[in-house]
Amino acid sequence: MKHSPNSPILLTSSLHVDEARKAISQLVDDLIEESNVIADPSDIEIVSLDHAINRILAEDLLSPIDVPAADNSAMDGFAFNGECLTTSEGNISLQIVGTAYAGKPFEGEISAGQCLKIMTGAIMPGGCDTVIPQELTSTQDATLIEFHQNQLKPGDNRRLRGEDLQQGKPAIAAGRLLRPSDLGLAASLGISSLKVKRKLKVAILSSGDELRSLDQKLDPGSIYDSNRYSLTGLLNRLNLEIIDCGIVRDDPASLKHAFIDAASKADVLISSGGVSVGEADFTKQIMQELGDVGFWKIAMRPGRPMAFGMLKPIAGRIPARKTLFFGLPGNPVAVMVTFYQFVRSALLQLNGANQTEPPITQAISETPIRKKPGRTEFQRAILGRGRDGRPTVKLTGSQGAGVLRSMSEANCFVILAHDQGNISTGDWVDVALFDGLL
Ligand code: AMP
Ligand code: MG
Repeated sequence: MKHSPNSPILLTSSLHVDEARKAISQLVDDLIEESNVIADPSDIEIVSLDHAINRILAEDLLSPIDVPAADNSAMDGFAFNGECLTTSEGNISLQIVGTAYAGKPFEGEISAGQCLKIMTGAIMPGGCDTVIPQELTSTQDATLIEFHQNQLKPGDNRRLRGEDLQQGKPAIAAGRLLRPSDLGLAASLGISSLKVKRKLKVAILSSGDELRSLDQKLDPGSIYDSNRYSLTGLLNRLNLEIIDCGIVRDDPASLKHAFIDAASKADVLISSGGVSVGEADFTKQIMQELGDVGFWKIAMRPGRPMAFGMLKPIAGRIPARKTLFFGLPGNPVAVMVTFYQFVRSALLQLNGANQTEPPITQAISETPIRKKPGRTEFQRAILGRGRDGRPTVKLTGSQGAGVLRSMSEANCFVILAHDQGNISTGDWVDVALFDGLL
């Protein structure tokens, strides 16, 4: 391994978010390279289009046909031979000799002086290369159209065969996280199933003596375990296989047992809680036995403590595979922020996705925001539109790391960069939307 998570750079007292991301990405690359791991090329499945959403395409999808399959009209109008546009001046009049509909082509040739009424998508008849849109023509009667020669050029309003996609060329590149448009595109080529990477198996667990499951009564000092549910939601958006390892008590034996169980069957383990300064010590001990895990203090808010590394293959696991481990902080908002910032892209990378970063946009802050340089902050906010139509963003109430409501009401993060200081009303800020809409 080129970069151990325990390498000195990662033990600096506060790790820049970008350094943490780089180290994670490097380790994931190493895991892929080691080939005994998760992204094994043999791990490919064939799924029908209706099950392919949010899966990752395993091989380039080659188009079996030209799209469009024939030259056709881009407009409702009249098709004719465009040569007359270069040989005549002023008004041109053409005789209408028939009609071509989408799905019902006109059989026959069109000669000079003639035209064909044609609908959008209908195949261009023999002898025609140009379409004049209906609204640019005038008609004396149902058999004749007239238009001015300078209104178009030869070849206008015609879509050429193979213009969108050529037979044998990639229609969708390997590594695409499949979206609705990709499924439609595959269907438009007559393809009903796709080769995708198998679903990663992701184990989740919550650690903490204070945690209760939803069917238990809350005794004084206890709280419901919410993290497993937000994590399940986050993972479901990536169409993964989730292995729910439940709540684990804060004692070394239970934790060790749970980690071994996860390492015996999951590609990735995501735990929450138990990595803050007061609690990490016995987790560290267990990790020394089970794998190679770094305990980081990341210069970010929320989400400062985080553990990351891998668990060794458990004896008897076939094939022998390491398990990538993310020990996220326990605070419910910190869990979601660290997932967004570190885990999501690592899962996509591990499974061969070619684009792993969510898009960032910008909006104008409606209020001042206090920000100390020296850490990256993820504030919860609502992206909207000002009276002048420009995008605006407004924070959602209390920004405490445990206040899940701020997250629930928000539709985006305002991301304030490491070196950024206070924000004034009217400043542009970076924004990451929670949902990709399409
Ligand atoms: P920890 O990182 O274990 O110190 O936890 C930090 C805070 O997050 C504490 O207030 C915990 O009670 C809370 N917390 C930890 N795990 C969970 C969970 N699964 N659901 C809700 N809150 C949690
Ligand atoms: Mg705890």
